[in-house]
Amino acid sequence: MKGCGVVLFPMPFQGHISPMLQLASILHGKGFSISIIHTRFNSPNTANYPHFRFYPIPDGLSENDVVSSDPIRIVTFINSLNSNCQTPFRDCLTELISTEDPVACLVTDVLWYSTQAVADDLKLPRVVLRTSNVSSFLVIATIPSLFQKGYLPLQDSEAENEVPELPQFRFKDVSMFKDPGRFLEFIDTVVQGTKASSGIIYNSCEDLEQEYLTKTSSYFPNPVFLIGPFHKYFPASSSSLLPQDKTCISWLDKQQPKSVIYVSFGSVAAIKETEFLEVAWGLANSKQPFLWVVRPGLVQGSKWLELLPNGFLEMVGERGHIVKWAPQQEVLLHPSTAAFWTHCGWNSTLESLCEGVPMICQPCFGDQKTDARFISHVWRVGIHLESNIERGEIEKAIRRLMVEPEGQEMRDRIDLLKDKMNLCLKPGGTSYKSLDNLVSHILSLYSSKT
Ligand code: UDP
Repeated sequence: MKGCGVVLFPMPFQGHISPMLQLASILHGKGFSISIIHTRFNSPNTANYPHFRFYPIPDGLSENDVVSSDPIRIVTFINSLNSNCQTPFRDCLTELISTEDPVACLVTDVLWYSTQAVADDLKLPRVVLRTSNVSSFLVIATIPSLFQKGYLPLQDSEAENEVPELPQFRFKDVSMFKDPGRFLEFIDTVVQGTKASSGIIYNSCEDLEQEYLTKTSSYFPNPVFLIGPFHKYFPASSSSLLPQDKTCISWLDKQQPKSVIYVSFGSVAAIKETEFLEVAWGLANSKQPFLWVVRPGLVQGSKWLELLPNGFLEMVGERGHIVKWAPQQEVLLHPSTAAFWTHCGWNSTLESLCEGVPMICQPCFGDQKTDARFISHVWRVGIHLESNIERGEIEKAIRRLMVEPEGQEMRDRIDLLKDKMNLCLKPGGTSYKSLDNLVSHILSLYSSKT
């Protein structure tokens, strides 16, 4: 395998860059040389990866561009990246394959659909990484047929109904827009790009999603590799785009075992000012110690904590600790952490499952909604906060999870899942075997080229 290279191209969002860099490290551990093509926007911290080669490309974005939390704007943003980057990506890849180690394949995020045409032109196999799970990808692939069969667009009164082909989900768990035209076009492009690829890698494991894996094969007959959870291949590591505030850990060290609720809504989700105040009061009124990540921009237009009522921080005192960004994996591993109030991004969900930390689910958009349904209704290791964000409901949910017997039952269930997740990476485990298959697949792509 010496001298055989893989080129990876992450989508520049925190929740997509981390798993792509983790995958790069996993493949490097298997002997492949690694080249990363990346946008200048949200560029990874290259100093953390001295063993990789990095190739920045222009992306047509400005310093002031930010990733919006509005789903339609996210789709527009991804479409712009695809069109802005196609030519620079082609130029960079052409240069790279003519000068570097022989390249076995390209691995791009599924959202980089415009790279399939480039890969085809350069006769380089493209494998895609779905940074999330199988079930949410199945939901996305199913949406166009739900329109064709007349189940969508949805009437408000039907939101609670089960999705006919996906009985574990209700329509409200499937992200939907009142005006779906552009979204459907986007789904179609991503699905076609994925079908044309030489394989799909998921940051998930078969033990979690066997049933969905079988169903998904009717949409995607490609070779499939579930080799996650990626972050468990290494000690707690970071590909964080923001500086992590380590005071969290010294504060957690001072708390009782399994006493703290950790609150974070990830790198993109945003809430309204009124909701922010309800979160603050819900945490304060719960009387439980809390560690809260208030990312600048969590409330649109706010700098950081200036919206908190006067005297709030003094009233909470040492019982609460607020930071701009946390070393999340270390927080979830910490013995004082009892529960995680999360937006259910897939990385956060996996990180919590792997450490046996039950969740309060507050999904905002996209796969977060299907993840929340899995957490609360399939695995039953969390509580779904479905009503508006309101202090009384928050206080009740925190107490159900942290104080009442129901919380202990969830803890028992998630401990079993945690064991499963850890076992799947060990010799004989499903992800272990799948990684071996992936390595053989990449090598076969290489030999069929030469
Ligand atoms: N994260 C972190 N510190 C924080 C909050 C989040 O390091 O304070 C990391 C977290 O560990 C996860 C990623 O950011 O790996 C967020 O990804 P996820 O898929 O959960 O959500 P997204 O940010 O994409 O919505």
